[in-house]
Amino acid sequence: MLKPETSIAFENFCAEAKKHGFEPKIESGYRSFDRQLLIWNEKVLGKRKVLDKNGKSVNIAELSELELMKTILLWSALPGTSRHEWGTDIDVIDAAAVPEGYEAELTIEESAGVFGKFHKWLDVQIESGNSFGFRRVFLSGIGRVQPEPWHLSYSPKAKEIEQSFTAKNLTERLCENDILLLPQILDNLDWILENHVSCYFEKSYFKKG
Ligand SMILES: [Zn+2]
Repeated sequence: MLKPETSIAFENFCAEAKKHGFEPKIESGYRSFDRQLLIWNEKVLGKRKVLDKNGKSVNIAELSELELMKTILLWSALPGTSRHEWGTDIDVIDAAAVPEGYEAELTIEESAGVFGKFHKWLDVQIESGNSFGFRRVFLSGIGRVQPEPWHLSYSPKAKEIEQSFTAKNLTERLCENDILLLPQILDNLDWILENHVSCYFEKSYFKKG
């Protein structure tokens, strides 16, 4: 379900990485709106763990609905805003570095530890324009999404989607679906978009309205 351009670029990226002893593997690629919606609603209902900034489980009974929405947004995209729905964004690990029996978890500790060598190499590739169009998105100091070094975006295609993204379309999609916390979401939609979505766009492509 990835865009063909993303798949081709990833194959080329892998071929280059192999020369350096790495084996990039997609842990998570395309994710549908419905899947993102299910994750969101299960978190609101307490059927799925909700984590704080430090990755610690939160007792959601202690949170107001607004606080709950903001906490979920630290680690989960609002349905309709996940870049994984675009077919351009992937979560990548280095399969060559995975010890036997180890399950990748996609954490900061892991990115600096077992996959540290791969990420250092990738940093250099990205900085020197040799990453086959892939860039990192969720870096620290941009918005409120927790840093995700493993998340790569195929920029030439993602840029097109960023340019056509509007709050109006998003609002329509949210209202057409049974999403929990809808009143809180709609009341804070501009804030969500500014802090969780458009600030991660490559340029300021986001149009209001
Ligand atoms: Zn991701």
